[in-house]
Amino acid sequence: MWEHGRGVRGGSKLSKPGSTPGALVGCGMTIMNSRPRLFSLVSMMKLWPSQKGVLHGIVEVEKLGQFVKMTTYCNKTILVRDSKRSRSARWLRHRWIRDTCRRCRIPDWKVKRFLRGRMQKII
Ligand SMILES: [Zn+2]
Repeated sequence: MWEHGRGVRGGSKLSKPGSTPGALVGCGMTIMNSRPRLFSLVSMMKLWPSQKGVLHGIVEVEKLGQFVKMTTYCNKTILVRDSKRSRSARWLRHRWIRDTCRRCRIPDWKVKRFLRGRMQKII
């Protein structure tokens, strides 16, 4: 049993049989696996979901070391850590919002694109 297991592991490296989808997926779908950082997400979308789930429009994004500084249309300055695991990065990826900020006046098409779009299309 154990010997067989070892044999399979060693063999897959050499021969790459078609029955190992893991290797194939890793090559072809790198976009899915690589989680973009917050800064690249925000600078791409120019939208920011607040803690309450309100979507703001972003005028300016600036990278300050490990932090991302954002200025919204409603004149707020938001400073967050540039992490790909933060709540907002997750929200941006999954498009979870409850409302849009009225003062930011995000155009409808932008909100629609945000809600409809998927990561692959935007990148
Ligand atoms: Zn706003």
